[in-house]
Amino acid sequence: MTVTAFTEPEERTALRAAVAKLAGGYGRAYIEEKSRSGGRTTELWQDMGKHGYLGVSLPEEYGGGGGGISDLAAVLEEAAAAGAPLLMMVVSPAICGTVIARYGTDEQKQRWLPGIADGSFTMAFAITEPDAGSNSHNITTTATRDGDGWVLNGRKTYISGVDEADAVLVVARTADAKTGKLKPCLFVVPTDSEGFEAQRIPMEIVAPEEQFTLFIDQVRVPADTLVGTEDGGIVQLFAGLNPERIMGAAFSNGMARYALDKAVEYVKTREVWGQPIGAHQGIAHPLAKIKIELEQSRLLQQKAAALYDAGDDFGAGEYANMAKYAGGEIACNATDVAVHSHGGNGLTQEYGLASMLLAARLGRIAPVSREMILNFVGSHSLGLPKSY
Ligand SMILES: Cc1cc2nc3c(=O)[nH]c(=O)nc-3n(C[C@H](O)[C@H](O)[C@H](O)COP(=O)(O)OP(=O)(O)OC[C@H]3O[C@@H](n4cnc5c(N)ncnc54)[C@H](O)[C@@H]3O)c2cc1C
Repeated sequence: MTVTAFTEPEERTALRAAVAKLAGGYGRAYIEEKSRSGGRTTELWQDMGKHGYLGVSLPEEYGGGGGGISDLAAVLEEAAAAGAPLLMMVVSPAICGTVIARYGTDEQKQRWLPGIADGSFTMAFAITEPDAGSNSHNITTTATRDGDGWVLNGRKTYISGVDEADAVLVVARTADAKTGKLKPCLFVVPTDSEGFEAQRIPMEIVAPEEQFTLFIDQVRVPADTLVGTEDGGIVQLFAGLNPERIMGAAFSNGMARYALDKAVEYVKTREVWGQPIGAHQGIAHPLAKIKIELEQSRLLQQKAAALYDAGDDFGAGEYANMAKYAGGEIACNATDVAVHSHGGNGLTQEYGLASMLLAARLGRIAPVSREMILNFVGSHSLGLPKSY
């Protein structure tokens, strides 16, 4: 199916085509095989890095492509649409790479960005805590000054890809914050640090990326692992969280495209009443509805990314949330319709769609849940009073 990206420049259209070709060479069968055998997608990750796709939004002087989040989101969307979504792209280049590029010192950028860009150094991201959950104002992981450096203590949960990561960008709060308000600080913690333990969480999602609970017990890190300033607060954090939401939308939109393509291909050829089942409106209309809603969702993704790339962090915040919401919905609905269009075949491993039902739901839960986005849009966009 042709997907027209009418607002995008020629270079991005070419980028999309190149990524689609590379990721299509791996495809859904590769991802399924790695997921079910407990393997990693290292070859694909390195291939994407080698071609400059992982680092497309990072500054050229640090090994990146000098593009924007619009480009990185296009890369992830195309990989997902080819059946090979890479969850760690949401984390390593989009959150960690962006925060370091915007707030790191020159030395920190030299140290981490080239590896993030070419895929040889992967960074996970840890904000979620078991007790705070969606209320990240309540995180309790603390960073206490210790001579020249810091000591970190706390617990994080559902942290993706820690087994594949060289370091984790940990959101902590300074121990002396007296206001009670979130005063986040960001530390790059190597995964082999003493006192740092990652415990795998058994998940039902069929995906190659694993999830972990982190136990951070008296982990000592030098002063130069603090990215940005101690008082930079929420602004520094959102430099990474808006790209995360835009990438979440791209991940979901790509997955929805993959599911829709598979369904359309199937209903054009499957015949049970002497003509393809796609001729029946009961099958065609749900697919047509998905197509319309998918294009709406992709437009929100493109708008959010364009605002971010234009430096409008405030406007990007609103649209990144709405784009993430729309992406989560369309991925769930598209996979559901795709499975249904396949009849019994939709539930087999051979057709590879049933497992996507669960994977698509991730877009409704993370990185920020559907309800928290509705809360945000209600209070921020519509000016409604808050219940919490
Ligand atoms: C596969 C996966 C990968 C993840 N990767 C990472 C990662 O790499 N790094 C990281 O830091 N985190 C990660 N997360 C965590 C993710 O961001 C959280 O799961 C998510 O923010 C929701 O938090 P919670 O699970 O604690 O749910 P809870 O906060 O306990 O919420 C449970 C339910 O209650 C609803 N709810 C909560 N508060 C309200 C309210 N005020 N109004 C209405 N409804 C409400 C929520 O919408 C949700 O449906 C990941 C999660 C998953 C599942």
